[in-house]
Amino acid sequence: MTITCESPTDLLATLHRHFGHRAFRPGQEQLVAAVLRGRDVLAVMPTGSGKSLGYQLPAVVLPGTTLVVSPLISLMKDQVDELNRRGIPSGALHSMLSSECRREVIEGARAAHLRLLYVAPERFASDQFIRLLGELTIARFVIDEAHCVSEWGHDFRPDYRRLRSAAAACRTIDGAVRPPIAAFTATATREVRDDIVALLGLEAPQILVAGFDRPNIYLRVEPVLDEDEKHERLPRLVTGRRALVYAATRRSAEAAATTLQAGGLQAAAYHAGLEDRERTRVQDAFASGALGVVCATNAFGMGIDRPDVDAVVHFAIPGSVEAYYQEIGRAGRDGRRATATLLWDYADVATREFLIDAPRRAAAGAPRGARPPVDPAELARRKEIEHRRLQRMIAYAGTNACLRATILQYFGDPDVRQPCHACSNCQPHALDAYECALVRTILTGIAQAGERYGRRRIAAMLAGDVDDLPPTLADVPSAGSLAQEQAYTVGQWIDAAISSGLIVTSQDQYRTLSLTARGRDVMTGRTGDLQMASPVRPADRWSRRRLRGVRHGRSRRKQL
Ligand code: ADP
Ligand code: ZN
Repeated sequence: MTITCESPTDLLATLHRHFGHRAFRPGQEQLVAAVLRGRDVLAVMPTGSGKSLGYQLPAVVLPGTTLVVSPLISLMKDQVDELNRRGIPSGALHSMLSSECRREVIEGARAAHLRLLYVAPERFASDQFIRLLGELTIARFVIDEAHCVSEWGHDFRPDYRRLRSAAAACRTIDGAVRPPIAAFTATATREVRDDIVALLGLEAPQILVAGFDRPNIYLRVEPVLDEDEKHERLPRLVTGRRALVYAATRRSAEAAATTLQAGGLQAAAYHAGLEDRERTRVQDAFASGALGVVCATNAFGMGIDRPDVDAVVHFAIPGSVEAYYQEIGRAGRDGRRATATLLWDYADVATREFLIDAPRRAAAGAPRGARPPVDPAELARRKEIEHRRLQRMIAYAGTNACLRATILQYFGDPDVRQPCHACSNCQPHALDAYECALVRTILTGIAQAGERYGRRRIAAMLAGDVDDLPPTLADVPSAGSLAQEQAYTVGQWIDAAISSGLIVTSQDQYRTLSLTARGRDVMTGRTGDLQMASPVRPADRWSRRRLRGVRHGRSRRKQL
């Protein structure tokens, strides 16, 4: 069925008349148009971004009933109540319904009275229900939480495997083989997306990705050396703010709260190990505004919807980019500027790996909704998937690229513009002492080598890779003075110093490096505070140093 009569102004009028909204959110209008056009659609949008409208508005406009498969009964119920309140006749079929209510809904559906019919996926196991589908005229077959169809999705449900044949059992208004399918998900990895398309049998689907960017959240990764440094940094990140601190374990959540309390801040811990009474107290105090900071495991946040959270701090790396983005998404809901900081210590990866590999009952940090699989092969497979997710999160923590672009690319958002100018990798920041010393050493090396060599040789000389260098260069005093770094990394720092105007490259074929006037001032210490975008996450450096068995990064920094 092709609908062409709905012009953008008609759609806007329909949006206002039936849903009370004056404008579409980013991506919504394209989504509505795609669903109306009658092609199969796969929409990837985060929870809360307003994706329901993508099928609810077409359901109001299209002849026939729109069938919506949704796994969460409570959500289904809320939506149906809301739609009916708005004068859009809708019903739901699920296991919690009394037989009387069920009969009423089925009668409404048979009488073609319903615009939307929500059903739980278990319904598709019933032959009776499949027969009912054949009696209805289905405008669109909508599948919410479509990642449930994929073994790669974090909430795999075998029931979803029946949807493809169920869609084929539907009657359509124009006699087509099956109604157009619109699948919605907030999980967008390649594997999941490919699975959704293949297992639901989507035909040349239009894939829409929208709504992932949260431009008012400033993204920051702060590498730290150890637990002590996290505790040192934490108070500064949350003072004067309404903040959530996410920890990987209950003990670590308690420790973070203790540090903040010792610093005179109103903070409390929240995790599944607390008594119900204490949990309720913390939740209520945070909701009412009496409590400024909650240090929590990921058990917190489901029931919390304060729009004015302006800082989220991760005290340890979360298990996946999905989890990270969902958790930082609790910040800045009022549209005001908020900050999301990841305190990044490579040592925390071991905790995450333990939580993945540990038996489920011990895995306090395991993703919500992960049900204990029984089959050992299935268990092994799930663990492998979680390890892969963790690796993607580690890649985020260690990247030199724009943090926002890294996340948006992960979710497949096509509107990636970088630099975003609102993340710690895009914005120049004051270098720490180690980084300042490193830049000075590079400048000194270039000067000592007589400003006669190019980037590659200077980097090799400083890193101590002198075997292939001319003797005059191999013998300068600063040769090997950055031996703890790799030549490649030194090269990246040289590039950053060029971008910051400390070094220039000759225009001839030799591309030799020399210092600018400002570069000389920095080298001699006349300019103290150095602002530049650091090209390498110091954590890479530190973790490498750990690998080399140098245990005391801090004292090493001082030696430089
Ligand atoms: P989800 O993407 O999780 O399905 P919903 O569709 O439930 O999200 O939408 C989340 C909230 O956003 C709802 O309260 C809804 O009323 C609101 N919303 C959706 N679209 C718009 C819009 N165009 N303008 C204003 N509010 C909207
Ligand atoms: Zn950026």
